[in-house]
Amino acid sequence: MATINANFLKLKAGYLFPEIARRVKAYADANPELAKRVIRCGIGDVTEALPPAVVKAMHEGVDEMASRDTFKGYGPEQGYEFLRQAIVDNQFADLGISADEVFISDGSKCDTGNILDIFGKGNTIAITDPVYPVYVDTNVMAGNTGDADEKGAYEGLVYLPCNAANGFVADLPKQKVDLVYLCFPNNPTGAVATRAQLEAWVKYAKENDTIIFFDAAYEAFIQDPEIPRSIFEIEGARDVAIEFRSFSKNGGFTGVRCAYVVIPKTVTGKTDSGERIPLHQLWSRRHSTKFNGASYPVQKAAAAVFSEEGKKEVAALIEHYMGNAKLLREAAAAAGLPVFGGENAPYVWVGCPAGLSSWDMFDKMLSEAQVVITPGSGFGSAGEGWFRISAFNSRANVEEVCRRLKALVA
Ligand SMILES: *Cc1c(COP(=O)(O)O)cnc(C)c1O
Repeated sequence: MATINANFLKLKAGYLFPEIARRVKAYADANPELAKRVIRCGIGDVTEALPPAVVKAMHEGVDEMASRDTFKGYGPEQGYEFLRQAIVDNQFADLGISADEVFISDGSKCDTGNILDIFGKGNTIAITDPVYPVYVDTNVMAGNTGDADEKGAYEGLVYLPCNAANGFVADLPKQKVDLVYLCFPNNPTGAVATRAQLEAWVKYAKENDTIIFFDAAYEAFIQDPEIPRSIFEIEGARDVAIEFRSFSKNGGFTGVRCAYVVIPKTVTGKTDSGERIPLHQLWSRRHSTKFNGASYPVQKAAAAVFSEEGKKEVAALIEHYMGNAKLLREAAAAAGLPVFGGENAPYVWVGCPAGLSSWDMFDKMLSEAQVVITPGSGFGSAGEGWFRISAFNSRANVEEVCRRLKALVA
């Protein structure tokens, strides 16, 4: 008889977004007329069309595939050189990153999960709370945790609470950890880390031999020129950090799929006997064995994000979403609620009205205002009492959400 990976049984059943979908469907079934008014600001998915430069490049890529002379079969597993070089030139210029330290994939969700393949058992792993659920669940699946307690916290993980007091930027761990996940700009809170805060993290990592997983999926939304866009802007990060980036949120590629990991050749992990091995070597082996490359038209489309037209069009998309974020921030503040995020990130993180839990507020927003938000507690117990509003929407929808939020709470 085939045994299973019993770690999967430790996973808490209702993953956040299925539970949201269930409640929205139940509401719609019970209230078919009101359900027509529902505006979704829940799941963090882009809403606007792909930039025209991207669409054009993807069409060209398909046309090349349509002719025997220009047809392409399997590409390099690590990604086409033209895309890796464009990434380095446009995103990491002067940061000492080379094109062969970039690995193209079909998504950061997969990358942030798969990265655990190259790490051993018994590592002490720190995650911020609230957090992108993928980091937690993939550690559960990999057997890096014990069971969850009644609040949903897994035994064996080091939770770093983020709250209003620390501005939703986690304090350094009091203990030594081997791996830590940092995401800035943050999903769900919209928080960003200052240069001094990231310097402190890199210093901690050097002193404690920690690897930092830096998720920069929302880098393009940073408005403040003082905020670092990459962990590699911090001196010494090349020795301790891996960075994850995606075309999902800047280029609107959530349905196209393209992302990348940057692994400097200088970052190492240890064998049981204490020998240092470059993580780059292990990830290269893993990637070329378990992945066969992102599709050619998609990589061509991704490279178009860095064309002159593409840059302008992406900037316009970001401006649109950040304009939405500003309106949502203002509306939540006008309703008298505490507001974080939304200044360098497409998420606005709002405190619930007094006495309401995150799910209470979710139900209230759905049933009384027909607006779908994301309950903060779904991202971890430290998110209790907060909710996330996504700025990924049309301007008209956001303006309507602002009116309804103010009417509901004020
Ligand atoms: C959206 C998002 C990503 C990107 O995921 P893809 O799989 O590339 O679409 C990565 N990290 C976080 C925290 C995100 O919210």
